[in-house]
Amino acid sequence: MEKRFCRRCLLDEVFEKDEYKNMQEHIKNIDNQIKTEEHEYKRRLELCMECDNLINGMCKICGCFVEMRAAVNKNYCPHIEKRW
Ligand code: SF4
Repeated sequence: MEKRFCRRCLLDEVFEKDEYKNMQEHIKNIDNQIKTEEHEYKRRLELCMECDNLINGMCKICGCFVEMRAAVNKNYCPHIEKRW
């Protein structure tokens, strides 16, 4: 039976363990000078999870995986209202 996902899932719920591990590894290795602080990162992802544009971990507006986009401090939400 095909695995079903919540429309607003983040990637940890969408991808298989190994795929997600690779992404986490990539995020972990982002240079601290450009990386989003943990508290702000969590805040961003919480806002994404409440957003109708989040589909299977990806933002419908920009096509980015939000966990990757949110991890870089200078990035911002592409929504016209800039949710973060
Ligand atoms: S529009 Fe902004 S808040 Fe919504 S999913 Fe995209 S990045 Fe997240």
